[in-house]
Amino acid sequence: MARELSEVGVVGLGTMGAGIAEVFARAGLSVTAVDVDDAAVQRGRGHVEKSTGRAVSRGRLDPADRDAIVSRIRFTTSMDDLAQAELVVEAVPERVDLKAAVLSALDRICPPDTILATNTSSLSVTELSVTTGRPGKVIGMHFFNPAPVMKLVEVVRTVGTEPAVVEDVEALAARLGKVGVTIGDRAGFIANALLFGYLNHAVAMVEDRYASREDVDAAMRLGAGLPMGPLALLDLIGLDTAHQILGTMYRQSRNRLHAPSPLIEQLVTAGLLGRKAGRGFYTYADRHSAEVVADAQTPVAGAAAAGARPVRSVGVLAVAGPKADADRLDALVPAAASAGLPVARVLAEPGTGPEGWTGPVAGLANADLVLVAGTDDPAVFAALGGLVQDGAVLAATSSGRPVVEHAAASGRPADVVGLHLAGPGSALRVAEVVAGLLTDPGAAATVHAFCARVELPAVTAPDRAGRIVDALLFPYLNDAVRMLEARYATADDIDAAMVSGCGYPMGPFELLDLVGLDVALAVERQLYAEVREPGLAPAPLLEHLVTAGHLGRRAGRGFRDSRAR
Ligand code: NAD
Repeated sequence: MARELSEVGVVGLGTMGAGIAEVFARAGLSVTAVDVDDAAVQRGRGHVEKSTGRAVSRGRLDPADRDAIVSRIRFTTSMDDLAQAELVVEAVPERVDLKAAVLSALDRICPPDTILATNTSSLSVTELSVTTGRPGKVIGMHFFNPAPVMKLVEVVRTVGTEPAVVEDVEALAARLGKVGVTIGDRAGFIANALLFGYLNHAVAMVEDRYASREDVDAAMRLGAGLPMGPLALLDLIGLDTAHQILGTMYRQSRNRLHAPSPLIEQLVTAGLLGRKAGRGFYTYADRHSAEVVADAQTPVAGAAAAGARPVRSVGVLAVAGPKADADRLDALVPAAASAGLPVARVLAEPGTGPEGWTGPVAGLANADLVLVAGTDDPAVFAALGGLVQDGAVLAATSSGRPVVEHAAASGRPADVVGLHLAGPGSALRVAEVVAGLLTDPGAAATVHAFCARVELPAVTAPDRAGRIVDALLFPYLNDAVRMLEARYATADDIDAAMVSGCGYPMGPFELLDLVGLDVALAVERQLYAEVREPGLAPAPLLEHLVTAGHLGRRAGRGFRDSRAR
């Protein structure tokens, strides 16, 4: 039977600590909240008052309940006031010396059975535990920002944490209304380990000038349905914190993809730490503000469409192929028609030339823009190149090969553009417009202008495997499979962590089952083949499941009902 804790403490009332104190008080616990001096304590109290005040003004909290919550928190500058606490969470800055000093002080002040919890994101809980004389009572309680809103708490047990302590903290997390997942002590735990590899990769993409920060952020929000783009999220988290977390992950994993990108290092050195400094990847109206102000990198609206060729009619060549490609194109055709563009739709069996195509081939030949779907066969572009009128733009919507290959095959390389409709399922959320090495900027602008006309958000993406969305999404999915393979956590816990800790619309295993494990494996093989980066090699478990026919939802079995969970 778990102990019912009622007297708790929080040390450090910054971004996280103040939120954690509020969470405890909301659940009816009596809280002692400690910071270094009066100014810091006042800031902490201000955080709680503002946060609960916001809940009242939004009608989510009764004013009387707000007063009761605030009155349950005793603010103080003296650690000695924690002498009665049954559990204390420390949320002081992420420095091992500082945390060790706070934990040893707590060890002296609190009774021997008091549980000492750390909210560390990246330090070893085990290492912190042995700085006290009670390592068995030390545990990680990792809340997410903002603590009153995000539902996840990662409960981190070390090899020495007593089982009864784990039980007590799990019961407490449930009482707080949180989703608790219990895991071992590994850098990044679940959520950060999966999140930060992806964030680092997004920074590298911007740093290598594959895509602009705005396009990377828009592509991930729209194409992957994430609540924020990766660069805006890094600005929110703080570049110093991100640097610290990645550094720890790299030291533990030796995976190059976790080594903090040089751009993150430079931003930290320059003091451009994100929102809290008023500037990071973006520039903000003022410190702590989410409002972005225009700066040198902010693109001028409509610039991507400058130099576009006129489009009076559209042709669609749909080669019988993957259903997802056909579905997405089917969604685009009515959009074009309702934008006043006549559409000539031609169907083809794989391997056939124009003589074997069915439908208005003459309309296709006279179209200003021809969209090709369902095939990665450059021969189709060779056939189209000889058929369409001068100046027509050919857009490849499949993403299995680089645009430059289709361009070279077409005999009119300047006219070939990639138009990848990104995102799982058939919904059209964002178009990745790809100019290959030989593409004329006017041809790419034509595709941008077309997207604007059919009201499809578009970003400029590189002619690289996976463009933006798949290149960032699939390595994250692969990392989740590796985490499962290492038996660090179950598929359900990993899914729960990403949904309730990071606000993702679905967890990685639910998404893999939806997309199809075979489709994921094919994308991952492509990404790996391009750069031969060991960290991108498909997880063996994914290969095995595909071989065994566990292809996901459409096969009736995937991660969710396979023995892998
Ligand atoms: P913060 O800098 O906003 O707040 C730290 C607070 O600790 C400050 O108020 C500071 O005055 C106080 N403090 C410093 N030394 C102290 C001492 N000796 N005794 C008492 N108080 C002291 O930091 P934060 O972002 O809230 O992070 C705190 C912890 O939470 C870190 O371990 C961090 O890794 C972790 N965390 C942060 C986030 C996030 O998004 N910021 C999310 C999850 C976990």
